[in-house]
Amino acid sequence: MKLILFGPPGAGKGTQSRLLEQRYKIPQLSTGDMLRALVSSGSPLGEQAASVMTSGGLMPDSLMVDMIAEWIDRPECANGFILDGFPRTEAQAIALDKMLKSRNTRLDKVVELQVDDAEIIDRIAGRFACRGCGAGYHDRTHRPKVPGVCDQCGTTHFFRRPDDTPASVAARLQVYRDQTMPVLPYYERQGILATVNGVGEMPEIAVRI
Ligand code: AMP
Repeated sequence: MKLILFGPPGAGKGTQSRLLEQRYKIPQLSTGDMLRALVSSGSPLGEQAASVMTSGGLMPDSLMVDMIAEWIDRPECANGFILDGFPRTEAQAIALDKMLKSRNTRLDKVVELQVDDAEIIDRIAGRFACRGCGAGYHDRTHRPKVPGVCDQCGTTHFFRRPDDTPASVAARLQVYRDQTMPVLPYYERQGILATVNGVGEMPEIAVRI
């Protein structure tokens, strides 16, 4: 099964992809996570990514397409994958289709998670994640059961994304509206777009998907 989880920042794409990953045993491919790993490596490209990400802008299409192309040929993806954060532009969507076509395959579904701006801003303002396993938490709605200890892996190290500041979030939402939302009609025309209400409890949204 080859899926895209589509939606604005803070829509729950990461959380829901991780649930789908466990359920269907296919990997989540998050271009944001790949870029954050690049930033941690401290390479010159990582430095460039850090400044683009903080500004809320997008990395070049060609780089992102190459990153995904490299992943989908790995054995872990033999039974499919869940794309989280890719494609973000029409050029990326077209390149992805070409890539899949040349491998005699295609996308099964594009799931758009719909969440309004007020909810997004509230979610992002309180979110943090485990450094060990990436599990997501929220100051108000989803704190670790034992304070300071990850429920999933027991690690005591957490982080907040440097691009989760109000200024970055506003820029990311604008970029989503200008460059990413216009990709939706492309998938609608292919008849593979499903729209899901992304507001509610995590398991409830998983059932909707
Ligand atoms: P995310 O974790 O998906 O919210 O991505 C964090 C940031 O990484 C985005 O705000 C962009 O700056 C960059 N990024 C992630 N995926 C892409 C992509 N497919 N194309 C361009 N930039 C991306």
